[in-house]
Amino acid sequence: MQIIDGKKIAADIKAEIANEVKAMIDKGEAAPHLAAVIVGDDGAAQTYVDSIKKNCQTVGFTSSIYHFPADIKEEEFLKAIDFLNNDIDIDGYIIQLPLPIHISNDKVLAHVDPAKDMDCFHPANMGNLLLGKDCYKPATPHGTMELIRRAGIETEGKNCVVLGRSNIVGKPLAMMLAQKDANATVTICHSKTKNLKKVCSKADILFVAIGQPEMITADYVKKDAVVIDIGIHRIEDPESEKGYRICGDVNYNDVAGKCSAITPVPGGVGPMTMTCLLMNTLTARKKKQ
Ligand code: NDP
Repeated sequence: MQIIDGKKIAADIKAEIANEVKAMIDKGEAAPHLAAVIVGDDGAAQTYVDSIKKNCQTVGFTSSIYHFPADIKEEEFLKAIDFLNNDIDIDGYIIQLPLPIHISNDKVLAHVDPAKDMDCFHPANMGNLLLGKDCYKPATPHGTMELIRRAGIETEGKNCVVLGRSNIVGKPLAMMLAQKDANATVTICHSKTKNLKKVCSKADILFVAIGQPEMITADYVKKDAVVIDIGIHRIEDPESEKGYRICGDVNYNDVAGKCSAITPVPGGVGPMTMTCLLMNTLTARKKKQ
């Protein structure tokens, strides 16, 4: 059984990015610049943004964090987005979601310059993804695809089941699997899917992104299938020193014995999300040139 090491694959990609950045700097070019926008004081959002900063440092990017108070008016926030769109020193940026309730997510995301939309949330980028055109790809599904490609998991002609249909994970992932460079036969499942176990147990490759800690047990999995767990949760665990542990949407211990390959949580898909954000920023920088 293959344990797909996302940490190692992400580190390899970051080393490749760092080499490209070094070559740019040696040629006298500025380093790629990724900005992150955060509104309010949510701890998890702050941790993610801090991690962006750290990862940018690792590969030699410039990073900027734009932190706005939770009560910022929508109009004022859109002006800040205009500033980021117009700043030629910034190659790309992300906006940490969700935004406070008085600010329209849809309005803000449509206001982002698609050329700087590193999360690929702008409708134009989503549309290009659907059309199979060259475009930025959303970080988590892109990371998932890159992870399996580098782990040597073949998708062509495979029966792939994607569990979850969110706009940021399930839907774009299903779309990428169905494109001509992946050539998978794709089924999308969600909370209204009937006979979920039966559908999942037909999968050669099962992708799980449902936000339900350890829900997927061995009886959802065909023998020797590949299981890709995109979920990530922090759950209480009195037996752990910290009082909690990190797990995915898949019950790893139950499933591992039945499949041919699996991603662990942590250390599987998770590290790839950030890496793909960096990949998109490098692409944005190259396109600008
Ligand atoms: P959402 O909550 O937006 O979507 C969950 C999807 O799963 C929905 O389509 C929902 O169906 C479906 N679903 C929920 N419960 C069930 C169920 N019991 N049976 C079948 N389908 C179900 O989640 P996200 O897509 O944002 O995230 C999914 C997981 O991925 C989470 O665990 C999240 O933490 C993780 N994640 C990990 C990232 C990473 O970097 N590794 C990044 C982003 C997310 P319906 O549409 O009918 O409601």
